[in-house]
Formats: sequence, C-alpha cells, structure tokens
Amino acid sequence: MPDPTPPRLQRVTVLGATGSIGMSTLDVLARHPDRFEAFALTAQVQVERLFELCLRFSPRFAVLVDSAAASDLRQRLKAAGSATEVLAGAGALVEVAAHPDTDAVMAAIVGAAGLAPALAAARAGKRVLLANKEALVLSGRLFMQAVAASGAQLLPIDSEHNAVFQALPQGYTRDPQRCGVRRILLTASGGPFRERSLESLANVTPDEACAHPNWVMGRKISVDSATMMNKGLEVIEAHWLFAVPPEAIEVVVHPQSVIHSMVEYADGSVLAQLGNPDMRTPIAHALAYPERIDAGVRPLDLFEIGRLNFERPDFVRFPCLALAYDALREGGAAAAVLNAANEEAVAAFLDRRVGFTRIPDIIAATLERACDLSVDCIEAILDADARAREIARSEILARQTTP
Ligand code: NAD
Ligand code: MG
Repeated sequence: MPDPTPPRLQRVTVLGATGSIGMSTLDVLARHPDRFEAFALTAQVQVERLFELCLRFSPRFAVLVDSAAASDLRQRLKAAGSATEVLAGAGALVEVAAHPDTDAVMAAIVGAAGLAPALAAARAGKRVLLANKEALVLSGRLFMQAVAASGAQLLPIDSEHNAVFQALPQGYTRDPQRCGVRRILLTASGGPFRERSLESLANVTPDEACAHPNWVMGRKISVDSATMMNKGLEVIEAHWLFAVPPEAIEVVVHPQSVIHSMVEYADGSVLAQLGNPDMRTPIAHALAYPERIDAGVRPLDLFEIGRLNFERPDFVRFPCLALAYDALREGGAAAAVLNAANEEAVAAFLDRRVGFTRIPDIIAATLERACDLSVDCIEAILDADARAREIARSEILARQTTP
C-alpha cells in the first residue's frame, strides 16, 4: 500500500515576527517543519533581524512598515539569492494577513497598530492566533462579530486567556450560564513592583519597570505589567473573548505564574491550567489545536516550586486596574480611549519624559476629557484612538519632567 498523501503544511503568517511573541512562534514552527511553514513575516523597521529570519524560514513574503527599511531588506535578500518578496507599508500587513494562501495568522504586533491586520485576518476567515490584546480592547464587539460572520477560528495566545480557553468546555458557545460557568479567575504575577510602596515608585527607571520577575517580553507590555494595566487590558480581553460580564472576572495575584488562569463552575469546580511561564506553550497549543505538540518547554516541576500563593490585587497602588474595569463598564469608546492614553503614557515613560506614577494620572485625565464617541465601525474606533492620543499628549506635556 502506498503511503497516504501527507497533510498539507499549515502556512503561517507571523505579524510582528521580530518581537518576543514572534520569535517564540518561529521557535515552535522550526520544531515542526512537517506541519508548518512560514508564509509571511512582518516587522516595523528591524531590517537585520528580519533578514536573518527570511534566510532561515524562506517565507513567500516579508513586510516592513518602513519603506526605506523595506528597500534595504529587498536589496540584501536579492544579493543573498533569496526568493522572498519584500512588501512595504501598513497596507501590506493587511494584504498578507488576508492572503488567500495563508491558513493561520499570528497577530503579534504590539499596540493599536496591530488592529487592522488582525481584523483583516478575522474577516478573511483565517485561524487567528491573537496575542495583540489591544485589538480586542479597541474593537472587541466588531472583532467578535467579524469572527462570527466569517467563520474564522479565534485562538487566544495571551497565557491567561489561553488557559481559560483550555479550562472551558470544548466548543464553548460564549454563553457562560448555559455552560455552568460562574467566574473567570485571571491570575496576575503582580509584576516587578508587587511589594513596593506607592511612594517608592515615583522614580523607578524604565529598565527597572521592564525587569519582570517571571516573563521576558517586549518593553511596552513589560511596563503594562508593572502598572498592572496589562491585567486591566486582559480583563477587557476576557470579557470579549468569553462573553463574561466584568463582575464575573476576578483578578487573583499569584506571584509564581504557574497557574495561568482558572474557570469556576456552578457546581463549585475550579479548573486551572498550569505550566512553566513560557509563551511557547500557548503558541504551540493554538498552532496545533486540537492536537498537542512539543513546544520545547521544560516540564513543570511541582516539587521545585513547592508552593503556590494567592493575594488580592491592590487597586490603590495599581490604579490602572481600576481604570480598566471602569472603562469596560462604561462601554462605548472608553476602552479605546484608555488604550490610546496608556500607549502614549507608556511611550513617554520609556522615553523618560514622565515618571512611572504619572501613567495612571495621564490615562484618568484623558478619559475625563474625551467626549463620547461612537465606535460602531472601524473608522470611528480609529478616530476615537487618534483623538484620545492628542488629549493624552497634552496631558503628558503638562506633566513632563524637564531634562
Ligand atoms: P515586541 O515589542 O517584542 O514586538 C512587537 C512586534 O511588533 C515587533 O516585531 C515589531 O516590529 C512589530 N511592530 C511594532 N510596532 C509596529 C507597528 N506600528 N506596525 C507594525 N509592526 C509593528 O512585543 P511582544 O512582547 O512580542 O508583544 C506583542 C503583542 O503580544 C502585544 O500586544 C502584547 O501585549 C502581546 N503579548 C505578549 C506577551 C509576551 O510574552 N511578550 C504575552 C502576552 C501577550
Ligand atoms: Mg497575559
């Protein structure tokens, strides 16, 4: 008997290929050349790293948003004899994300810039592996509608949401009551400043804020973890992904980052997903779903860990968490305004233009000043985002520390 034809390779587009999630994704792909191939790799400006990745993975397309960087990459790949076609500009991100020849799209661009290509993949009915939580914070309703309309398969990559996905019944219908789901317990490490007093945080440096105790991540999400805005964004993300109301989403500080989140059921059962803190686990889970494949992750050694601790979050020392719950409850454009102000404030902190504890002040002031904007289409959301950034920039100027 001849061997049955091997299944076709899954062609994966990696948006944000040069970042922390992008590189972890490529690490998993490289372990399974019999299952996956890179279809398109994208980045903002990082020519050197994308050049190396193109030689290693031979994608059909490489995209750089910056056009000068794209010309540079094109010349270098040509000289190296590579067949990869280089595209330039933000429009090319959308093009490769929705390309008829790609099967799965890893949405791992950081910030609101990732929304358009992630949404394009959702509209085109792809398997969407969503790391870019900001896309759901900005446009949760529209995004979930696009997924439902196209029949796209949405798989969460954020470790907490991937854990919840794994702890929910298979084929969860986004109807918590019908499925007996009482609460979602989102775990949080508490970040690098979990035990610090509010007063001691005024003068922390960007490097201190980015030194996360358990995870190695891009700088923006690292600062979000230090302010706990990351958990706030994740509460909003969980609301849209799983259709659970804000009051049924509880944040549990768990400093070891071993339990990645839990689902509490009506009968009192609590199901958790555990593992070493390594993003290759959720990435491999989503890439191979519903199968399980090796992710290169060290097995969990519970004897080495010894104990698991839990604490209540401190909404006074971490006001960003309260701001995010408020924005979710308010609805409309509030979450988009919160996200835009946060991106601007974090960028200003990373540039040393404002202090760490100014971040929540800038977000609160922006939310107060932003007028009620409609968010019924993507253009309106992007408009709300742009206006909120303008307000946030003026709030940053007002608080800027002189060099
Ligand atoms: P990163 O900063 O390491 O990488 C960001 C990637 O996006 C890079 O490839 C960069 O070139 C690209 N990029 C940045 N700005 C862009 C723009 N304007 N247009 C196009 N491309 C752009 O970030 P990361 O830590 O990998 O995080 C990526 C996303 O995944 C974020 O939304 C983050 O919240 C989410 N996430 C990350 C982790 C993690 O462990 N790193 C965990 C959960 C969720
Ligand atoms: Mg997370």
